[in-house]
Amino acid sequence: MTHKFIKKIFNLILAFVVIAVSTITVSAPSFATNFSDLENHWAKSYIEVISTYNAVSGYPDGSFKPNDTIKRIEFIAIIVNSQGYDLRNRSEDEYWGQPYIETALSTGLIVSNEYGDLEVQTFDENISREEIASIVVNAYLKSGGSVDPSIMDEASSKLNDFGAVTSGYYSKALAAVALDFISGYPDGTFAPKRSATRAEAAIISYKLLTKIGIITNENLPENIILSKNTLIQGDLLKITVHHASDLSLDQELYPDFKWYDAGGVIEGYVPTNYSTSPGVYNLKFTNNENGSTSTREIEVVQRKFRVQNLTVDTSVESSTRTDDAYTEYYKYFNPSRDISSPVKYYTEPFLLPTKGKVTTEFGEARYVNGALTNYRHAGIDIAAPRNTEVLSTNAGKVMLSMPLVLTGNSIVVDHGEGLFSVYFHLDKLHVAEGEMVERGQLIGEVGSTGFSTGPHLHFTMSYYRFNIEPGYMIYGQSITKDNYLELMK
Ligand SMILES: [Zn+2]
Repeated sequence: MTHKFIKKIFNLILAFVVIAVSTITVSAPSFATNFSDLENHWAKSYIEVISTYNAVSGYPDGSFKPNDTIKRIEFIAIIVNSQGYDLRNRSEDEYWGQPYIETALSTGLIVSNEYGDLEVQTFDENISREEIASIVVNAYLKSGGSVDPSIMDEASSKLNDFGAVTSGYYSKALAAVALDFISGYPDGTFAPKRSATRAEAAIISYKLLTKIGIITNENLPENIILSKNTLIQGDLLKITVHHASDLSLDQELYPDFKWYDAGGVIEGYVPTNYSTSPGVYNLKFTNNENGSTSTREIEVVQRKFRVQNLTVDTSVESSTRTDDAYTEYYKYFNPSRDISSPVKYYTEPFLLPTKGKVTTEFGEARYVNGALTNYRHAGIDIAAPRNTEVLSTNAGKVMLSMPLVLTGNSIVVDHGEGLFSVYFHLDKLHVAEGEMVERGQLIGEVGSTGFSTGPHLHFTMSYYRFNIEPGYMIYGQSITKDNYLELMK
C-alpha cells in the first residue's frame, strides 16, 4: 500500500467522521472557523472545509487574506498537499517550496520549463488562471479522472476569449471549464492571464477534492454575508446566505423581513431610516434544516439630519394639503408599493434619475410657514429646470403613473425583491402603469406639480413602503447639499 493511498483512506475516514458527528448532534458539521478575516466573504465555507483537508492554511496572525493574489508555488503546494503526494523533508536553508517543486515535476503537475528557468523567482510570481487550469486538470487526470471530448467542445463555445489562452494551455483551459473547476466571469470571459486570488484557489481545490471523491460530504456550512456591519440611519442592509435554503431570522429592526430565492443563494433586506433608533441589534439566524443557530451583530449609527424652514404660499398649501388630497394619496400611492416581483428586474447598479441642485436632503425635519411638522422628508429634492429629463434609476415595472393632488404627476417603479423608486412633481409622464422600463429610460420630466414651490424632482427609494436614503443605493453614501456636486460629476 502506497503512502499516498493510505493518506487518501485517512481522508475518507475523516470525511465519514465529520458526517457521523453531524448526524449525532443534528447541527452543522464543525469546520474550522478560526480565520480572522473571512466574515462576510463569499468563499468562507469553501475555505473552512478545504482547510480541514490541509489543502490550505492561513497566516501566523490568524488571517487567510482571501483576496490576495496567490503565487505559483502556493497553488502548487495546495494541490500537492490536498492530493497527499509524497513530499521529501526540506533541508535547512533551502527554499520552502523546493520539495513541492520536485513533487510537482515528478507527478506531472507541471513540466520543467513551464515558467521558464527553474528559479525561485519564477515560482514566487502570481499564478495566472490558465496556469491554474493546467495544474488542476493534470491533478484530476493523474487521480484517474477523464474528460469526455464532447464536453470540451461544449466548453469552447461557453466563453469568448479562449483565443487569448497560451497555446500550450489551450486544451487544459477548455477541460478546466468543461469540468467546472474554473468558471468564467459574468462578461463571458475566461481571462487566462489574470491572477487568481487565494479564495479562488481554495474553491478550485475544493472542487478537485470533491470530483475525485476525497470530499464526500457535499453539505457546505452555511455562509451568512452581511452587506455591512455598521449602517447609518437610512441605509439598507442586504443579507445573502450561501449553502442554506431554509433559514429563519429573528431581529427587531424590521417586522416584515422575508427571504428571496435568488438562484443558488437566498437574500433579504433590513431597511433603516430616521425612525430607526440608533444602537446595536442582534440578528439571530436559525437553520431549519439542521437546527443550528448563529447570531450576528449590526450597529445603526445616528445621522445628523438637517432642519429646514420652508415658506409656502398659503394658497398653494391650502389647495394641496387637504384631507381629500391625503385620501387620494393613500388610496393610490400607498398600495403601489405593496406588491413586488420576487425576482429582481435589474442586474446593473442604480443611477441618479436627474441632475440638479439638491435642495432638501433625505430625513430633513421641516418647519412649514414657521410651524414644525411631524413630517420627515422621505427622499431627496433635486431642483432642475422644468422639462429636464427624469430617467428610471434602474430596470423595473411601473406600478403607478398618474397625477395626484398632493405629489403631482407621480411615478412608482418596482425593481423586484421589495425595492421601489419614487418620482414626484413631474411636469410630464412618459410611461404608463404596468409598463416595463429599462435602466436610464426616460420616464418623465421635471416639473412643479402638486405641493411644490418650484420645478424639482422629489426622488426616493424604499423597501416596500419603508423609505430609505436613495444615495446608499446609487453612491454607497447619502446625497447631501455638501456633496452632491462632487457625486453628480
Ligand atoms: Zn421632496
